[in-house]
Amino acid sequence: MMSRIIALAVAAAIIPLGALAPLAAQAEPCPGNSQALGTERVIEVDTKSTPRVGRKHFASTLPLARKELVLTFDDGPWPGTTPKVLDALKHECVRATFFLLGKNAEAHPQLARRTLAEGHSIGHHTYAHPLLDHMPLAKAEAEINRGIEEDEYAVYGQRRTEPAVPFFRFPGFASNRALLERMSERGIVVFGADVWASDWLPMSPEQELRLILARIEQVGRGIVLFHDTKAQTAQMLPAFLRELKRRGFHIVHVVPAGSRGVLN
Ligand SMILES: [Zn+2]
Repeated sequence: MMSRIIALAVAAAIIPLGALAPLAAQAEPCPGNSQALGTERVIEVDTKSTPRVGRKHFASTLPLARKELVLTFDDGPWPGTTPKVLDALKHECVRATFFLLGKNAEAHPQLARRTLAEGHSIGHHTYAHPLLDHMPLAKAEAEINRGIEEDEYAVYGQRRTEPAVPFFRFPGFASNRALLERMSERGIVVFGADVWASDWLPMSPEQELRLILARIEQVGRGIVLFHDTKAQTAQMLPAFLRELKRRGFHIVHVVPAGSRGVLN
């Protein structure tokens, strides 16, 4: 109770009045789970202040305090695994960002819509996951736009290349200067990562849990990369979220500038 009061007091001190309602709503108890990790706060992200984030590949990351994490999931939506990931996040009232593949959103639009409906941010990750860094610029941008179009159509029913949430992650983090400049011109924030689970490698859920927790303790804060297409990630997520709570980590949700409370 005390931490909730403090959270609300902090929110009231730093958030403009008009934006307080959605944040306060998130501080409500989590239905069915009095011990939930929860979502501590929401931050707005835009290309003016943070054109690219994630220290694995870029010079800076999101303005996070110690023990604050932003959870991200790539390559979905995927039947079998994405629903489990969504269930685990919902149980803990945690909001994350999903970087969808256009071809998967096209094939599984109901899962893409569920992801939005449960309060997560929908970012983009191309149509079919090619590496774009050595592709001609126009071809690379066409692939990016095809992905955005399919995601937007699946999630919002609108085929457009200007995304509702202008967040993008390059497949394999394979970008180049021209592409990064193009994204910045378009007002699209490029997400890298600060820490990852290496969940593209075969490993048991227990191994993945140990590995990601050790790496998170090492970096202390930042953007965490998972793949919601991976069975071991879906399986370890409930235990991972409980462990974050036990260790005193906090979850921060990222949304586009000016959109707080509008998209969800
Ligand atoms: Zn990917």
